Amino acid sequence: MTDDTAARLAALIRTIPDFPKPGIQFRDITTLLLDPDGLRLAVETMAAKIAGPIDLVAGIEARGFVFAPALALRLGAGVLLIRKDGKLPGATIAEDYALEYGTDRIAMHADACAPGARVLLVDDLIATGGTARAAVRLIRKAGAVVSEAAFVIDLPDLGGAAALAGDGIAVHALVA
Ligand code: AMP
Repeated sequence: MTDDTAARLAALIRTIPDFPKPGIQFRDITTLLLDPDGLRLAVETMAAKIAGPIDLVAGIEARGFVFAPALALRLGAGVLLIRKDGKLPGATIAEDYALEYGTDRIAMHADACAPGARVLLVDDLIATGGTARAAVRLIRKAGAVVSEAAFVIDLPDLGGAAALAGDGIAVHALVA
């Protein structure tokens, strides 16, 4: 990936100050999604970074769902949905993770992946890594293997990508 690619993608991402609460600089990818060339560039650049082979692309609700199918189609993989707890209809397994105040819980169908399935984790952004690391614990609990994770945006100062690397994951990001 060239600096030019990162700059083109960064120019299509909008920053909304003080959303969802004061002090947060929200990195809004909806503007990137609206741009046909930007969307294609993001998906193709992400796909090119994946070492693979990959059996399933796990998208984290909600913005990870946008990129997971696009990557899965390119990688010859299926799509695994990691959802907020309580949304999936079948028997689930769940994992809690810490928020600034309190905890949250994500879930997946207990029978979603075959033992040893090779899973790529995808979300729009990694900040503290709390969400992504909970997803990795969850997928590993299901008996699958997570060796790579891809994000449009990494906020390196928050340490999530480094923590994920410490969990043995190759972390790919398009824009820092
Ligand atoms: P974290 O668990 O701290 O790594 O946060 C990552 C999750 O929260 C991802 O699902 C992001 O979509 C969302 N998120 C966290 N911080 C931001 C931000 N500054 N802008 C947009 N989304 C964010």
